[in-house]
Amino acid sequence: TFITFEGIDGSGKSTQARLLAEHLRAAGYDVVLTREPGGSPGAEEIRALVLQGDPDRWSAETEILLFTAARRDHLERTINPALTAGKVVICDRFADSTRMYQGLSRGDLRATVDQLHSLMIGREPDLTVLIDMDPDTGHARAKSRQTAEERFEDFGTDLQAQMRAGFLALASEFPDRFRIVDGGRAIETVATDVNRTVAGHLSS
Ligand code: C5P
Repeated sequence: TFITFEGIDGSGKSTQARLLAEHLRAAGYDVVLTREPGGSPGAEEIRALVLQGDPDRWSAETEILLFTAARRDHLERTINPALTAGKVVICDRFADSTRMYQGLSRGDLRATVDQLHSLMIGREPDLTVLIDMDPDTGHARAKSRQTAEERFEDFGTDLQAQMRAGFLALASEFPDRFRIVDGGRAIETVATDVNRTVAGHLSS
């Protein structure tokens, strides 16, 4: 089973992905917890190329190619082997993030993202948990844990609001695999909700 977490910066999806992995491991599942961009040695190198240094180093189109290349490597080396071995794969961000960040925030490039996706990736998650979060809260959270090494795209709350709306629209576009969880509550409350959502999916 392939489960992804999506949401705006600061939505708490990485924390929730980790808590879900702990919960499922305790329940006896063999779990691989991974993330994008990254998740394999080659893809982590591409992550560093994209997220460190000058934010204007790459055009939006080149960035789509780099993210797709990273995803392809991640899929070949990490995700597909784990799924073949019957493991549960939990991934912090996947193609939906590229649909949003490169496809929406840097211009109208969604069609390009989708074309490359069908050509080179061709796989969607079985379940995508969207941690929905108010942009002001998300923004404050993301800023407070910004690291020195990696760029934080200071989108401003207008663009964060656009991203949030974009993710919600994406959830309506793929209703079969998306589940929306309200991330504006206590971490444990959100985690309980996520566990329930995923349990329903794993047993069905
Ligand atoms: O998920 P995480 O917070 O580690 O993402 C790191 C940064 O990469 C974020 O600022 C996010 O906006 C950016 N990102 C991006 N395009 C993606 C995935 C992440 O610009 N496809």
